Amino acid sequence: SRSTQLQDTIYALSTAQGKAGVAIIRISGSKASQAVTKMAPKLLPIPRKATGRIIVHPITGEVLDHGLVLWFPGPSSYTGEDVVEFQIHGGTSVIRGVLDALGNIDGFRHAEQGEFTRRAFDNEKLDLTEIEGLADLLNAETEAQRRQALRQAQGGLRNLYDNWRQQLIENMALVEAVIDFGEDENIEEGVLEQVRERIKNLTSMMYDHTNDNRRGEIMRDGIHVTILGPPNVGKSSFLNCLAAIVSPIPGTTRDVIEIFLNLGGYPIVVGDTAGLRKSDDIIEIEGMTRAKNRILSSDIKICILSSVDVLNALNSKINILREIDPLVFHSVDEETFLILNKSDLLNKNELSYLREIFTKIIPTNYIFCLSCITGDGVKEFLETFVNLLRQKYDSCTSHVALITQARHRKHLDDCMQGLQNFLVQNDLVLAAEELRHATNALGKITGRVSVDEILNVIFQQFCIGK
Ligand code: GDP
Ligand code: ZN
Repeated sequence: SRSTQLQDTIYALSTAQGKAGVAIIRISGSKASQAVTKMAPKLLPIPRKATGRIIVHPITGEVLDHGLVLWFPGPSSYTGEDVVEFQIHGGTSVIRGVLDALGNIDGFRHAEQGEFTRRAFDNEKLDLTEIEGLADLLNAETEAQRRQALRQAQGGLRNLYDNWRQQLIENMALVEAVIDFGEDENIEEGVLEQVRERIKNLTSMMYDHTNDNRRGEIMRDGIHVTILGPPNVGKSSFLNCLAAIVSPIPGTTRDVIEIFLNLGGYPIVVGDTAGLRKSDDIIEIEGMTRAKNRILSSDIKICILSSVDVLNALNSKINILREIDPLVFHSVDEETFLILNKSDLLNKNELSYLREIFTKIIPTNYIFCLSCITGDGVKEFLETFVNLLRQKYDSCTSHVALITQARHRKHLDDCMQGLQNFLVQNDLVLAAEELRHATNALGKITGRVSVDEILNVIFQQFCIGK
């Protein structure tokens, strides 16, 4: 059962598996100090001060390594329990030797996945949003993701939600008091009026908080950019061009037409919509449906046309709007980047002529003439593009931390629903029930109410030793 599990003192390698200069083994629990007295004898070192010791086997006394020992007495440690850290040489056999030796101490066992962090949560050192932030920090691939995760790991969301929840609890107490003792009708109405006013304010703050264009979630998952355009205009060339300039994040390519890029610190998932044209072919139609969905769900669209083809069409009086795939054309909006590629094949006058025409017929703020072959104009495009990312998605431009997960949003919606029900409910007992429901919904975000089923999911994200 959990309570006996909690009495165990746990240990694990905290640094990554594999050869390294230094490895850190972390020990946490009520008997953690025995790791020092039995394996790095004898006296406990000064708290939080690295102290050189010989590390020995607790039973045979065999010398296993020379290392540093750190002692963090609870509750001011990562887990809130007594914690010991051994910093030893990173060789595989040294690590194995020390871990095996720890298993010989009575009441010691190897930690499970995420168990150190789980204990930190149980001892209220961290709340769920901070733990999620920590997991995101370990997974962060780009600067912007790191900034956002760090802010959350340091309590950005916890402070906000704890504050709101505290206010809800105070108002709930007032409503309960009126239910239990409300005798004087005048006082009663005055108190309830105040409560309603405060709940209205809170609801509107929550509404503002959730009405965020999903900036935080998008930043966490990657900003989805779709490249669209007719065949042979240079979509693949453009993707290759970007990948050559801003090296793709390794190991994250999901399929041949989608790559993961770090653009100016922002995580970008770029996809090429292959096969975007009219067809009777079942397979191609399937591909088009997927392409269509991709366009609809993407955060930013880049439409590429070949400047030569467009100019030729104009010269032979072909209606270029009809020539461009209608699906592509209708997807273009103010924020779509329109790229007139193959600029190397036209002269300056021809290019500015095209630019002028497109400014009139396409409602976009961003038109770029560039060449994937010579690289002309690519830098200008990137500058503007990264600027837009900064404006649209950077969490540092907002005063409070942003929602980063669908989980938060679900509970916030639930909370706001409860508050709205409270405001329209005339029966005071039922109204109080709605307030309690709303308070619990907020508590589920930070983990302040029992949420065992989601805890397991969250802690699975950690490796052993975290
Ligand atoms: P996609 O079908 O839209 O992905 O187009 P591709 O990237 O396969 O390019 C089609 C053809 O256009 C290839 O032969 C490319 O070499 C060529 N191409 C692409 N970009 C440029 C460019 O900027 N200038 C010139 N001259 N040719 C280009
Ligand atoms: Zn994707």
